Amino acid sequence: MRLLLVEDHVPLADELVAGLGKQGYAVDWLADGRDAAYQGATEPYDLIILDLGLPGRPGLEVLQEWRAAGQATPVLILTARGSWAERIDGLKAGADDYLTKPFHPEELTLRIQALLRRAHGLANQPQLEAAGLQLDEARQCVALDGQTIELTAAEFRLLRYFMLHAGQILSKGQLAEHLYDGETERDSNVLEVHVNRLRGKLGREVIETRRGQGYRFSGVAG
Ligand code: CA
Repeated sequence: MRLLLVEDHVPLADELVAGLGKQGYAVDWLADGRDAAYQGATEPYDLIILDLGLPGRPGLEVLQEWRAAGQATPVLILTARGSWAERIDGLKAGADDYLTKPFHPEELTLRIQALLRRAHGLANQPQLEAAGLQLDEARQCVALDGQTIELTAAEFRLLRYFMLHAGQILSKGQLAEHLYDGETERDSNVLEVHVNRLRGKLGREVIETRRGQGYRFSGVAG
């Protein structure tokens, strides 16, 4: 999953970029509201974390502009402590959730996971499940028939994306765009290698190749 982080407080941004990276998210970081308005409207993010107090343009205005343009990406806003007015304005402008600074990194993680499940119609799942697999996002492993299967960081990233899009045909281009940040070189051969390793661990039938179209992660269990 690829996230946009808009935060002008550099120490916090550094900490969040590092922490989210360890959790298998590809993160693009911006500090300026004008840059965020443009990039958030043009790049295919899965979720946006938006600070409201920004140089360039206020975060609230940026969010209003995205929503007015039909941009439906989940947005989690970061607000100042004690500012209920900011939270209310943010929610009215179309934010999906908020966190008040300072916050515990684990709270951000759990809110991101929940927002992503909700955005993919899986709000009822306390943990990500598809095709008989249960993904443990904290430990980055997967359970199948009561057995725990360890995953590499790259396999975990890929499997999480597949599980959130079970049953859908995903092109290699789409996968590359959503698994890697804007700075990473996107090599479709590398993607193929990881797909084959996941098949080796989970069973060949779990990920189907659609010639000329891409891959389809098995939607239905059994
Ligand atoms: Ca700020």
